Amino acid sequence: MTISFDPRAKADAMYKGAFQPMLIGGDWVPASSGQVMEAINPANGKLLAQLPRGQAEDVDAAVDAARKALEGPWSRFKPYERQALLLRIADLVEQNWETLCVSDTLDMGLPISRTLANKRRVVGMLRFYAGMATALHGEMIENSVPGEVVSFTRKEPIGVVGAIIPWNAPTASSIWKIAPAIATGCTIVLKPSEEASLTPLMIGKLMQEAGLPDGVINIVTGTGAEAGARLSEHPGVDKIVFTGSTATGQAIARASVGNLKRVSLELGGKSPVIICADADLDRAVPVAAMAVYAHSGQICIAGSRLFVARHIHEEFVERLAQYARNLRIGDGIDPEIDLGPLINRRQAGKVEKFIVSAHDEGARLITGGMRLTDNGLDSGNFIAPTVFGDVRDDMTIAREEIFGPVISAMPFDTIEEAVQRANNTPYGLAAGVFTRDLGMAHKLTSRLRAGSVWVNMYHAIDPAVPFGGMKMSGYGREGGREHLDEYLETKAVWIQT
Ligand code: NAD
Repeated sequence: MTISFDPRAKADAMYKGAFQPMLIGGDWVPASSGQVMEAINPANGKLLAQLPRGQAEDVDAAVDAARKALEGPWSRFKPYERQALLLRIADLVEQNWETLCVSDTLDMGLPISRTLANKRRVVGMLRFYAGMATALHGEMIENSVPGEVVSFTRKEPIGVVGAIIPWNAPTASSIWKIAPAIATGCTIVLKPSEEASLTPLMIGKLMQEAGLPDGVINIVTGTGAEAGARLSEHPGVDKIVFTGSTATGQAIARASVGNLKRVSLELGGKSPVIICADADLDRAVPVAAMAVYAHSGQICIAGSRLFVARHIHEEFVERLAQYARNLRIGDGIDPEIDLGPLINRRQAGKVEKFIVSAHDEGARLITGGMRLTDNGLDSGNFIAPTVFGDVRDDMTIAREEIFGPVISAMPFDTIEEAVQRANNTPYGLAAGVFTRDLGMAHKLTSRLRAGSVWVNMYHAIDPAVPFGGMKMSGYGREGGREHLDEYLETKAVWIQT
């Protein structure tokens, strides 16, 4: 990709360790306790900024502000006015795209070449939901006594939405939660990850600049155990939309029962990719590699279980390893870099433990498998893109979400066996298939238990297409019409004629 600006110069001028307040009721404020937390650049361990470490009382203030806005001026905004706001926000996000991307790269390590490439999708979400704001409707229902009684449904905003997001895609995750809230007339309290809150705050500023009334969006920075937990249990929150790990999703579902708030969960995965014997390997190798190595494996849809037809397994893993060895690894602020760091030391240590477990359990290392410390990488959290071959289904690396750049390649003999093994996981977020046989593609897409199945491609996500998980990868969908329903209640109205 050609980049027409100097990301490093932009990065040097940004943040400089300064305090970044959070947004409650239209005001930019510190935590009421005065507590702070640090934003650290994972590529070099340097302090980027300080942030409020919001506590329960800050969440309470944000929920109050959201309720006041919901019942106040925001309720009088017409759909076309909410639409106009979303379109203004889309324009501002587009105009500030480079700044948002540099901020994301600094805060969570995804290379700038990749953050910049997301523009169409992210701005598209805002414009897609702008369109939907004027297309909300219930339906007239033909009941059993038509003519005597008229019945129809109305779609109404669910109310105050608590949104809790992870660190690995702060811009897309924030916008994917906020845009439908604005389209439907809800208000929102966003709790970004403590690992990556800077860009969501920047997005909050753009929304204010676009003219969003005070309290419609509130952003409380803080930890999951403090601010996140309070938001999940808060009796004034009508709905939680959550993206993050399965364990946290379960904790949120438990915390939500107090007021039976609605919950939708986008959780973890252990996604299979099936490479059939007739696959076009020139296409399959790079796509299967980046199905994991994009964002150094820190993506929920990482296709980390690679089932390869036995007679091409050896050739495939060799070509995959060659591809992995050619990737350029380093500080993603350099536009030439393909792979950035892991988010923090803890995550890098976790991935190293998975690699040790693979050795102990008898997997064959084809490439990678180590921490990278040369050429200045020692101050960041870098792990070489790794391929293990001859992995068995019962090995730890084949069962658990690693969230690191590790591919487990596993040979299979029959398609039936591949499908069964691919489905043999508690997760069901995504799956990939590579084949030239259209009939086989249809057969596999219908049999794989996953919320998204890609054929001869991977990673595609679009504002108009629903995305979400089956089984322990969560419930609810983001994207498309179904996403709006997550923010709406259905009211039945009866009229005696
Ligand atoms: P995480 O579950 O640790 O944290 C996610 C968010 O939840 C953060 O904002 C965190 O502060 C908050 N949180 C933590 N504990 C909480 C609690 N007890 N109550 C309320 N909130 C709490 O996940 P992470 O490490 O930030 O992200 C990685 C995980 O997210 C992976 O499992 C990945 O698969 C998943 N993920 C899923 C999707 C998807 O769309 N399905 C997308 C991205 C990431």
